[in-house]
Parts: sequence; structure tokens; C-alpha cells
Amino acid sequence: MQLVFASNNKNKITEIQALVPSSISILSLKDIGCLEDIPETADTIEGNAILKANYVTEKYGYNCFADDSGLEIDYLNGAPGVYSARFAGEQKNNFDNIQKVLKELKSVENRKAQFKTVIALNLNQEQKLFTGIIKGTITNNPQGDNGFGYDPIFQPVNFQKTFAEMPQNEKSAISHRGKAVAQLLTYLKEI
Ligand code: IMP
Repeated sequence: MQLVFASNNKNKITEIQALVPSSISILSLKDIGCLEDIPETADTIEGNAILKANYVTEKYGYNCFADDSGLEIDYLNGAPGVYSARFAGEQKNNFDNIQKVLKELKSVENRKAQFKTVIALNLNQEQKLFTGIIKGTITNNPQGDNGFGYDPIFQPVNFQKTFAEMPQNEKSAISHRGKAVAQLLTYLKEI
């Protein structure tokens, strides 16, 4: 069976291909000739994952899954959420985004936050959603050089270090994305 992963990130595609049953062949957007930018105009993380998966299924006729992630901060009522990549502006700069979060949380005691990933899967005319969440807190200062995005200021519960201070495999074992992917894989192995 062919299954499109609505992404052109080669690392992500290779990683997923190695994990799914060998009867499933993962295709990238490029593989199916989808070279245009898929609109990500929904106002929720779920909504954007669904938009991307539906775009591919409706326009190209493939079974497909798409993911979308974001950081939700309690004190900011769930922001930046779906706007995580561009919280500090359209330049989508990690450093600027982190500075903005730290500024908004200056002297704030409630530093609770969570990362969320939603994967929308369109398979044989049915849609399934898989959600992965990791809870934690926003640190007072950036710590660590690994990872990307808000990793230097996110400390998962029960850990004394940030995501950016963890090796990739340690982060993946507990992360929002790791959890959502694990659910997708369990589902794909059962069908
Ligand atoms: P995406 O949907 O996976 O592209 O994530 C959107 C944005 O959320 C990223 O550009 C990051 O700013 C933030 N984000 C998502 N996942 C992570 C993570 O694992 N670590 C740090 N930031 C993340």
C-alpha cells in the first residue's frame, strides 16, 4: 500500500519508512508531484493537520497522513499554539520566539505548558486523529543546544533538564511527536 506523508523533510520520511510495516510504502509530497505550498490556515493544531491531509487526498487521491505541532502555554491561554512557528513574526525565528515567550512570562509564577502533536490520517475514506502531548514548564532562561524551536526553554515533567539538553533519542521517547507517531504505528500495524 502507498501512503503519502504530507512532508518534504527527507529525515522525517526516512524515519517513518523504517518504522511502518514493510507492506506500506511511504511517499513524500515531491514523490506525488505536489510541489505547491499546502495552505495551513486553520486556527487550531488539529485543523491544520486535517487541512494538509485532506488537501492531498482530495487533490491527488492518495491515502495520506499529515502532522502539526505547537507549544501551548497555560498563562497565555494556550498561545502560541497553532502560531508557534511565527509567534514573534513571519521570519519564523526560533531565537525571537523564545525571547518573546520569556518576555511574556517575566515574573510569572505559573509556567506550565505542553507540546502537542496531532497526526491526521486519511485511509480508505476514513479519517483518524492521533494526539501526543507532553506536559512541562517554561524555564527562566534558555538551556542546551540540541533540538529546535522552543526546546531550550521547555522542561518536561519529572526531568531536571530541557528538551535541548537531551539527546534526540531521549527526547523522542517522551515527546509529543514521539507519542503521536507511536499511536499511528500501532494503528497501521493492526490494519
Ligand atoms: P511543526 O508543526 O512540527 O512544524 O511545529 C510548528 C512549530 O512548533 C515549530 O516551528 C516550533 O516552533 C514548535 N515546535 C513543535 N514541535 C517542537 C519541538 O519538539 N520542540 C520545539 N519546538 C517545537
